[in-house]
Amino acid sequence: MILKNKVPEGPLADKWTKYKSSIPLVSPANKRRLEVLVIGTGLAGGSAAASLAEMGYRVKAFCFQDSPRRAHSIAAQGGINAAKNYQNDGDSIYRLFYDTIKGGDYRSREANVYRLAEVSANIIDQCVAQGVPFAREYGGTLDNRSFGGVQVSRTFYARGQTGQQLLLGAYSALSRQIEKGNVSMYNRHEMLDIVKIDGKARGIIVRDLITGEYQRHFGHAVVLATGGYGNVYYLSTNAMGSNVTAAWKAYKQGAMFANPCFTQIHPTCIPVSGEYQSKLTLMSESLRNDGRIWVPKKKGDNRSPVDIPENERDYYLERRYPAFGNLVPRDVASRAAKERCDEGYGVGQTGLAVYLDFKDAIDRLGKDVVSARYGNLFAMYEKITGDDPYLTPMKIFPAVHYTMGGLWVDYDLMTTVPGLYAIGECNFSDHGANRLGASALMQGLADGYFVLPYTIGKYLSEDIRTPSINTDHDAFVKSEKNAKDRNERLLQNNGTKSVESFHRELGKIVWNHCGMSRNKSDLTQAIDDIKSLRKDFWSQVKVPGRDNALNPELAKAGRVADFFELGELMMRDALERNESCGGHFREEHQTEEGEALRDDENFTFSSAWEYKGEDTPPVLNKEELTFDTVHLTQRSYK
Ligand SMILES: Cc1cc2nc3c(=O)[nH]c(=O)nc-3n(C[C@H](O)[C@H](O)[C@H](O)COP(=O)(O)OP(=O)(O)OC[C@H]3O[C@@H](n4cnc5c(N)ncnc54)[C@H](O)[C@@H]3O)c2cc1C
Repeated sequence: MILKNKVPEGPLADKWTKYKSSIPLVSPANKRRLEVLVIGTGLAGGSAAASLAEMGYRVKAFCFQDSPRRAHSIAAQGGINAAKNYQNDGDSIYRLFYDTIKGGDYRSREANVYRLAEVSANIIDQCVAQGVPFAREYGGTLDNRSFGGVQVSRTFYARGQTGQQLLLGAYSALSRQIEKGNVSMYNRHEMLDIVKIDGKARGIIVRDLITGEYQRHFGHAVVLATGGYGNVYYLSTNAMGSNVTAAWKAYKQGAMFANPCFTQIHPTCIPVSGEYQSKLTLMSESLRNDGRIWVPKKKGDNRSPVDIPENERDYYLERRYPAFGNLVPRDVASRAAKERCDEGYGVGQTGLAVYLDFKDAIDRLGKDVVSARYGNLFAMYEKITGDDPYLTPMKIFPAVHYTMGGLWVDYDLMTTVPGLYAIGECNFSDHGANRLGASALMQGLADGYFVLPYTIGKYLSEDIRTPSINTDHDAFVKSEKNAKDRNERLLQNNGTKSVESFHRELGKIVWNHCGMSRNKSDLTQAIDDIKSLRKDFWSQVKVPGRDNALNPELAKAGRVADFFELGELMMRDALERNESCGGHFREEHQTEEGEALRDDENFTFSSAWEYKGEDTPPVLNKEELTFDTVHLTQRSYK
């Protein structure tokens, strides 16, 4: 299939402006007749649903939590980027664009990234107008801090709770539209399939998670804002409920899945402490503004960190990357931590940890300032580990955090299924092979508030004569039956093993073979291992309870079943991409200094996988990436 990215002609900086002023519009009277389904009400979906309703469309919004306020977005800690140049430190739209392209190791689409940088400043204005309490300087102006991979301070934040405050803003806008009757909100509903009629997305099948009732919903267009799939690794910093199901169903209906192996491993998480752990906790990247990362210079040094003198410490990021120091991008910092631990310099009981130390910052700024900046993160760390980070360095280790892969979308954010859009973390996004910190919130809100509300009009303007389709249509009946049959199969299975135990096993395979480093033989082996475990899952899993009632185990089983299929696709993608780039580190391709070594001649493309059926291998399509503005070079943060 030829992928048309629909990037408008013209100079990079003019594309979006020209696009906006030349697309066909939908009149207010017609907007009232058009129905849009938005699945997911995190930052991307919440902002999109509120904006579309404000514009006059009839919106139905769905989430599986008991309130949109509980979306995974609420966990975001550190901040949101915007090219405002408030610090007068040389920032600009171009610089944010450039940093993002370079940070993603030249594996993202120039036009989308430029547009993202362009609208970033609007997001801050929008959120301030909603009352989001961004941190301010003493004089009242908005404060900024730095995140990895950049040399300016462009990150806006609300202590360590930026996601929560932004989500409350989007939720207020959404609630206003619910109250006005423009949005019908379906909490605790899980989307189980996309319904296609005449090749277009025309609806969804959902299951009410409280009653078990299956429902059919029609929409002139469907928007997926269902978040990332990091939980395929079992252990991740994602919310426990984050899953791939909605995106996976879209994939099976013809939406291509792009770059599934591009995963972000975040360098500063609380290390794994035992076999029965089911969740990992992030310590925000913002901590790297003031915290210094080090390991002892001596292998196996088991003295308390406070007893190790300065000259016996290796501040390895500052040593290796003097220009960016502790603020190198996440993929670089994670690999460097792994390298030290693999060499035997790791600390803690497992040797799989490094120190993040605030002593210098406390001496320089005082405890009160450090506490004002990071107090809630310090409290969280102490609660989990029992150690007081004001007195002793934190122990941290990389963990799965974000997925750059997702549904392939064109410039309009439409998937390869007409009328089906994907926004936020669930699309393959603007971050290439590595996302820079504080850019996910920016992208989710850019998509929801500023991009989709324009681009969807282009499609819907051609649909103004399409009446609502009755959900008795065969396509709805068939999709609902498929969803029911699958759940019935899970319930009827007379196995003995829990869903959780299979998920844990799957996670180990994906982490060990497609985690911080990958190689051909491991990836090939992993495909077989996943296939065999998946077979066991379908024959040995035990799912208790009924379908027509609250049954969290059943919901979990469906999600894990989809993770199995996704896990296999990730391995294929990682195997096929025979180069290193960003977070995708193929051991066979590295520089002498152990950095990711790209192969631009053969791999300057986004991979877009096409589903071909249960027993047929998927087909790889390629969107060639052209760089007219940025010159491709070996990434360097030295
Ligand atoms: C601990 C942590 C901290 C982070 N901190 C930052 C940060 O400081 N800055 C930054 O830029 N990024 C940060 N990120 C990343 C960022 O939070 C996420 O990428 C972003 O919030 C994703 O938003 P989203 O709207 O795309 O998806 P989500 O917030 O994950 O929302 C998904 C929505 O989809 C719904 N959904 C999913 N599947 C279904 C289904 N089948 N049926 C119905 N509904 C469904 C859910 O109910 C939910 O409403 C952080 C991530 C983590 C894990």
